[in-house]
Amino acid sequence: MFSSLAERLSKSLRNIINKGRLTEDNIKDTIREVRKALLEADVTLSVVKKFIINVKKKAIGHEINKSFTPGQEFIKIVRNELILSMGDQDNDLNLSTQPPAIILIIGLQGAGKTTTVAKIAKWIQNKYKKKILITSTDVYRAAAIKQLEILSSQININFYLSNINQKPINITKEAIQHAKLKFYDILLIDTAGRLHIDEKMMNEIQEIQNFSNPIETLLVVDSMMGQDAINMATNFNKYLSISGIILTKTDSDSRSGIALSMRYITGKSIKFIGTGEKITNLEIFHPERMADKILGMNKVISIIKDIEEKINKSDIQNLTKKLKQGHDFNLNDFLMQIKEMKKMGGLNYFIDKFSNNEILSNNLLGNDQNALNKIEAIIYSMTPKERNNPSIIKGSRKRRISLGSGTQIQDINKLLKNFDNIKKIMKKIKNNGISKIMRNIKN
Ligand code: GDP
Repeated sequence: MFSSLAERLSKSLRNIINKGRLTEDNIKDTIREVRKALLEADVTLSVVKKFIINVKKKAIGHEINKSFTPGQEFIKIVRNELILSMGDQDNDLNLSTQPPAIILIIGLQGAGKTTTVAKIAKWIQNKYKKKILITSTDVYRAAAIKQLEILSSQININFYLSNINQKPINITKEAIQHAKLKFYDILLIDTAGRLHIDEKMMNEIQEIQNFSNPIETLLVVDSMMGQDAINMATNFNKYLSISGIILTKTDSDSRSGIALSMRYITGKSIKFIGTGEKITNLEIFHPERMADKILGMNKVISIIKDIEEKINKSDIQNLTKKLKQGHDFNLNDFLMQIKEMKKMGGLNYFIDKFSNNEILSNNLLGNDQNALNKIEAIIYSMTPKERNNPSIIKGSRKRRISLGSGTQIQDINKLLKNFDNIKKIMKKIKNNGISKIMRNIKN
């Protein structure tokens, strides 16, 4: 499945965990996984090939940062390449022209053009507080003009009414004239759906573009179209000068590869994505979000946020501060951490979610809620002196604690051993802070 690419990459890199560098040889399997996953995501083959070449160039010889596993390091490289490939620039609309700034919306029938016109109008109104006019040049579908008129009134934006007996080019001319007379800042022009192979219709849109000289010509693409969308976009781009792409229906598309292919092949930036049928379901395109979607990282990031929210930050921060001031990590601190972990639903949850992370993957304490309860009981049976200085816990003390907590001596030995391990980790945290370690999991 596409959504588990990040996981697959990590898995295939586990065997090189102790090597300091990524090499042609040790990333071979992982490269295969990337190729497979991108193809499954419906990324065009030629794009996959180019993408892999770029990733390889960047990965080979790459030194692995000490706080990452090779899996994380490689994911970082793939993620950065995805972001770069989908455009890392600002995708906002260009409205810097003499008013009215004209935005022409084009694409196939049913792609979502009319809905998107209304969405963009609302988006511009919210963001820029501009005076906006909308018109429709779709004289072929009886209900098209009406549909846009209704949408415009729903969002309180003025509509320049056309009728199906007019020629699209004449509607364009009149609407521009009207926009100028009434000092509109923006004129949004909806157009009829057309096939890129329909020469007559393509000539018509060319004429509209030549006359209106739009600052933005946005091609609306249904993201569920798959590979056909690439041909379509390439051809539209040959006829017209497209300034950007809007991918609609991304809410129903689980295969996000089209975003990558579109950008690679047309060279045009994706400006917006449609995320639902409602007027408000329009988002500026964020390459990094799409990269995370492609990598299946959304889940990981939301888990991290979840954990960060549940963790009692002040306790953890206090501890970090104390450690920085030279405080020796003791069993009271350990107990506080156990309590925090219990809030998160036990270690099982924690370790499972971060099994790719070097630090958290060493199943240090046992892995269920019972183990946490046991640890708590053991520490509660210790005297304050023992908690502050666990090295004094020897034979007779162990027996007393085991009786008091209803546990075995070996449970106490295990806890003390694990405490020593955690103490080592705390040294790392002392230098970096827990939140930095958590952030590293994300990057
Ligand atoms: P047009 O023929 O290109 O003007 O397409 P429409 O604007 O009439 O949209 C066609 C259908 O797609 C309508 O049912 C819209 O509600 C739906 N639609 C448009 N954009 C989106 C989107 O981002 N998500 C979803 N789920 N549906 C959308």
